[in-house]
Amino acid sequence: MEASIKNNIKAADLERLQQLDQEMAQSRETVLGYPTSKDFDYSAINHFLDYPINNIGDPYEEGSTYKVHTHEFEREVVRFFAKLFRANPQDYWGYVTNGSSESNLYGLYLARESFPKGMVYYSESTHYSVRKNIHLLNIPSIVIRSQPNGEIDYEDFENTVRLNRHKPAIVLTTFGTTMYEAKDDVSRIKGILKNLAIHDHYIHCDGALAGTYGAFMDPRTPFDFKDGADSISISGHKFVGSPIPCGVIVTKKSTRDRIAKSISYIGSLDTTITGSRNGHSPLFLWYTLKKLGVEGLRARYESSLEVAQYCEMRLKEIGIDAWRNPGAITVVLPKVPASIQGKWQLATEGDKAHIICMPCITKAQIDAFVYDMANCEEEVEEKFEFDF
Ligand SMILES: *Cc1c(COP(=O)(O)O)cnc(C)c1O
Repeated sequence: MEASIKNNIKAADLERLQQLDQEMAQSRETVLGYPTSKDFDYSAINHFLDYPINNIGDPYEEGSTYKVHTHEFEREVVRFFAKLFRANPQDYWGYVTNGSSESNLYGLYLARESFPKGMVYYSESTHYSVRKNIHLLNIPSIVIRSQPNGEIDYEDFENTVRLNRHKPAIVLTTFGTTMYEAKDDVSRIKGILKNLAIHDHYIHCDGALAGTYGAFMDPRTPFDFKDGADSISISGHKFVGSPIPCGVIVTKKSTRDRIAKSISYIGSLDTTITGSRNGHSPLFLWYTLKKLGVEGLRARYESSLEVAQYCEMRLKEIGIDAWRNPGAITVVLPKVPASIQGKWQLATEGDKAHIICMPCITKAQIDAFVYDMANCEEEVEEKFEFDF
């Protein structure tokens, strides 16, 4: 059977695959603008791709009749992050998602089920998945202004919530915004809610990239369960690194229990969003977390931070107005010429671009980028827009 499938593939199609392989290998080398780690080596567990793994259902509910799953490893991944995020060891729950977008959807879903009459507040720097999720869940929401560094404007937040204090407050904070890696202070948000005597509140923290190393920041910005979060999202393919996009949602078991619904088909309580779930991603994450441990993860952050400091310094040396938020591995700089933006795959927003010093980025790559910047004759393209 296998042989006949192979024989049916035409030489021209195989050639296309080879070409794709080459193109990808080449493109991978010059990504400076996106938060993907590419230094993973899963060769020791690649053979699990031979199994039709399916993690359908709640990873904590045993008794499913389908046995080809990695629930035990998934629970260990959740436990690793629950501990890192200082959750109550008796009251945490979570699962491995398809990425932070799904993790954010889950956090907002729990919030809405907890407070069906709630109002969502999020800053204008929030990732677009949040807007999409709020639309899907049909929850009323208000956008709060951001400060110039991308952090939520606490004063605008307080004033806006005050006007709606009769409603439960659902706050979507971001720990590491997509463009500037700004971090909203969860304790400060919690304090404002307390001041306004809003007892019915839920805080979801979107820590897609920076949540993974938030515990190691010095000084740290409050973001975890002890600081007041009710749920936290991270992406697995960003700082940890995975060939398949994935994420983790960690929340409180007590909150999750409220939405548990029995699905008899698989003989387990399905509290997750999708039906069939990817069971390979938990294995990849588990493998890296076991390999690194907490201290390895800390060292991974520290080396990224060092490259980010180096990058900021080198850019300033050639007269570029580069800056970073405290503890950030993202270096923000003015928009760059199109040829450089294309070559180094830099994400741009408005008149700003950024370099994210992911663990795989070396000082030599930064040097090559700085060289390009210093020797580029091309002007930054002016965008003319009607501001009418
Ligand atoms: C990347 C990102 C997301 C989306 O994560 P995916 O894993 O791509 O779904 C959400 N929020 C922030 C702040 C991000 O940077």
